[in-house]
Amino acid sequence: MAQEDVFKKIVSHCKEYGFVFPSSDIYDGLGAVYDYGQNGVELKNNIKQYWWKSMVLLHENIVGLDAAIFMHPTVWKASGHVDAFNDPLIDNRDSKKRYRADVLIEEQIAKYEEKIDKEVAKAAKRFGDNFDEAQFRATNGRVLEAQAKRDALHQRYSDAMNAMDLDELKQIILDEEIVCPISGTRNWTDVRQFNLMFKTEVGSTAEGASTIYLRPETAQGIFVNYLNVQKTGRMKLPFGIAQIGKAFRNEIVARQFIFRMREFEQMEMQFFVKPGTELDWFKSWKQTRLAWHQALGFGNENYRFHDHEKLAHYANAASDIEFRLPFGFKEIEGIHSRTNYDLSQHAKFSGRKIEYFDPETNESYTPYVIETSIGVDRMFLSVMCHSYEEEKLDNGETRVVLRLPAALAPVKLAILPLVKKDGLPEKAHEILNDLKFHFNCKYEEKDSIGKRYRRQDAIGTPYCITVDHDTLKDNCVTLRDRDTMKQERVPIDSLCSLLEDKVSLTSLLKKIQ
Ligand code: ATP
Repeated sequence: MAQEDVFKKIVSHCKEYGFVFPSSDIYDGLGAVYDYGQNGVELKNNIKQYWWKSMVLLHENIVGLDAAIFMHPTVWKASGHVDAFNDPLIDNRDSKKRYRADVLIEEQIAKYEEKIDKEVAKAAKRFGDNFDEAQFRATNGRVLEAQAKRDALHQRYSDAMNAMDLDELKQIILDEEIVCPISGTRNWTDVRQFNLMFKTEVGSTAEGASTIYLRPETAQGIFVNYLNVQKTGRMKLPFGIAQIGKAFRNEIVARQFIFRMREFEQMEMQFFVKPGTELDWFKSWKQTRLAWHQALGFGNENYRFHDHEKLAHYANAASDIEFRLPFGFKEIEGIHSRTNYDLSQHAKFSGRKIEYFDPETNESYTPYVIETSIGVDRMFLSVMCHSYEEEKLDNGETRVVLRLPAALAPVKLAILPLVKKDGLPEKAHEILNDLKFHFNCKYEEKDSIGKRYRRQDAIGTPYCITVDHDTLKDNCVTLRDRDTMKQERVPIDSLCSLLEDKVSLTSLLKKIQ
């Protein structure tokens, strides 16, 4: 099946099984805004818990924060967002579609890279075990030609972005003969800057109202609270502040479902360090964050770092963790060395002294910052995409199964009486009333047992237990494993400890400790 079709299926699965709905669905939705349904909210909460606990529970020197979405408007002047949080946009006059000029060029660079990869894959197949990839890349004519084109384009693009030369960005699009995917034409407008922040007004009268912004990142809430937390928590450097919350960006191109939204959620941690140590911490946070992703068991080959060449105005190093989605490797998380830019700017604009007194060296300085910033929704999407499978069974049937990591699954255990009579529902409820304090359980008695198993497979429930007539005699139930579909008889008394090991967040967290 083409990857595009797989993605479409995942999107409709998300709707059909109560994970993600378009916002205001009965009014035909609102572009790039989505609601999380009964199963989606559980999965999302579990992802947030996994992140929160990995930060705040597992690190003695990281504490949490929940700052307001509305902030003093000067915050966004100081941070540079009012002047520089722009994307270069371009319109195609024929299709009337709007694109990000930088993304069009990056996709063109990726096309050259794909071409090279295809040549390498073809040769690897032809030469088998004797294939020397490094030598092939260094000598093959077609590869060298594509590589040279890619490098030249990349250099030109980086220069244009660093200088924010909008005419040059347009010229690159024309020279590379990039066409609009909808109209197929090269009838492009000029490239313009577009600020991504949403504005609104605070205050009840028109005269007294002032413009404020919906935060485009949660990080600034942490920076403006640095002094509060450091002083009241008596925090010593290095220390971190973690926060989960909504962010808003008026994205130019909002496609790919919950990958690029206008309202989304971020999990950000700002780690304050002594100046001069920041690049070591940057390296170490890259590894810590990669390990967090890898512990989910989605295969290490599906992750890669993408080190930035064009750095944001505040950074002295930056890298993304990318994950293989059905539409290619895409950024899920950014790790940035933000220098002391934000704290210094806030000191300047607020007139406050925002520093740290180092008791070891008896000096005061503005801390440097390493940021780890991950989108909850993108993480959700990567979990969904990796877990969705249409499995062919031995009996010729196909089942849709969500192989979610058990600790993230919305429902951990489905409790199913074999029939709706003979005291089985009562016994099943007895078990439910005990286990519901430990796990998210679901009780279901409608339809055949086979159909009920399929419904649980489709929402990723790792275990089902069936209560049958023998249960009333031997106090045992049948435990069915979602992935292997194997069934075993287990005593009701042992269920809690048996499942705790398999489905709890604690087991997952222990993997990264
Ligand atoms: P992109 O280049 O894809 O626009 P970005 O580099 O602007 O992303 P950051 O500002 O580094 O993103 O934000 C940190 C994280 O927040 C991203 O890695 C991503 O997971 C998430 N994120 C950013 N923008 C969006 C969005 N519009 N929708 C959903 N998640 C987002």
